[in-house]
Amino acid sequence: YLNRQEQFESKVRSYPRKLPFAIQSAKGAWITDVEGNKYIDCLSGAGTLALGHNHPVVIESIKALLDSNLPMHTLDITTPLKDKFSEFMYKLLATNSDEYCLQFCGPTGADAVEAAIKLAKQVTGRSGVVSFSGGYHGMTHGALAVTGNLAPKQGIEGLMSSVQFLPYPNMYRCAFGLPFEQSIHAHMSYFESFLKDVESGVVKPAAVILEVIQGEGGVNPAPIEWLKHVRRVTKELGIMLIIDEVQTGFCRTGRWFAYQYADIDPDMIVMSKAIGGGLPLAVLGIKKQYDVWQAGNHSGTFRGNQLAMATGLATLNYLKDNNVADYVLEIGTWFMAQLKIRQQRYPQIGQVRGRGLMIGIEIINPSLPKQNDGSYPADSDVAAKIQQACFKHGLVIEKGGRGGTVLRLLPPLNITKDELQQVLQRLDMALEDNQ
Ligand code: PMP
Repeated sequence: YLNRQEQFESKVRSYPRKLPFAIQSAKGAWITDVEGNKYIDCLSGAGTLALGHNHPVVIESIKALLDSNLPMHTLDITTPLKDKFSEFMYKLLATNSDEYCLQFCGPTGADAVEAAIKLAKQVTGRSGVVSFSGGYHGMTHGALAVTGNLAPKQGIEGLMSSVQFLPYPNMYRCAFGLPFEQSIHAHMSYFESFLKDVESGVVKPAAVILEVIQGEGGVNPAPIEWLKHVRRVTKELGIMLIIDEVQTGFCRTGRWFAYQYADIDPDMIVMSKAIGGGLPLAVLGIKKQYDVWQAGNHSGTFRGNQLAMATGLATLNYLKDNNVADYVLEIGTWFMAQLKIRQQRYPQIGQVRGRGLMIGIEIINPSLPKQNDGSYPADSDVAAKIQQACFKHGLVIEKGGRGGTVLRLLPPLNITKDELQQVLQRLDMALEDNQ
């Protein structure tokens, strides 16, 4: 193996540059590297490992499938396992007024975003999509086109052009430079007046796509009032509302889905990550009345993989049977309060935010002058140093937000209070190293 510094400097892409280690084994919230060092994992495979590493119910589900003679893959052809999985999902998504059907996509979240955009175009006969600054929806052409971050699009010509970006209601750094209450209302009226501004030539889009809490964009929770407003306006104008729950879904925020906090009914729900229990799976939930597709309209070889459905169903059942959403809300609220105490202690913490166990810590430079909105500038260098210091102290976390200025924590949903205390101790050490 390359030593850490060599890995860090090597041309290996992405995570290895920031997290220079090779993983030997992992259990629950803990990772052991090939040198025997132990780390607490607050990245959880970017949120895929809802129950942490190698949870017994997940491992058992794989063993049972392997012993059952069920084919590994059946294309879109159903099996008793797929039926059970689908039944769980139908019940989970249905409300008193709406039923949802499922399009198996995949195996990645980006493909389910592609499916949502295509279907919205077909249902409405229109072409455009409205998306938001800081939003992240994936790396394929359509998903990247609706991602509100220029960096991954640099040098790529010919992405879907009919995308319009509006400011996301980031309540810490308001696009309009307004305080909280005024900011919500400014975002609400801007959203509505923009979509209704036919005289200026605004073309009605097929869909609006958004994350209820932006993940990669820096853990920005949208205000509930704004979400309700977006639903009201999109319904009034006949625009499909696509809610991307790839990261927020499946109890991560203390509810099965983050949109449930706003009590809204998405027209489509994009799901991946935790739905597969650690194996690749992506599913699009579609309100029944918009299911205009015939079999094969969104086809592809690897969708609805049996093994991922086994691990996914085992995870979903565990989340349900153990009331994990309630646990996440309770422990997440406690953890957030502990982090807010740190905000008073460490001047480099600008804000702590999130919901449940989806948490962001924005790093600022308080020695620079305040900006127009009253906040200090974000500091990507210090955020990077803190992430590295966390790693040194045995804590794996991610960064996000503009320029990577927000530390992101996505621990396993069943992490214990004792383990979270250890997360806090390690974070304290990293913050003290970078005062
Ligand atoms: N949407 C959101 C909200 C995501 O966080 C991600 C992945 N981070 C995606 C879509 C894309 O999923 P995938 O990487 O599986 O394509």
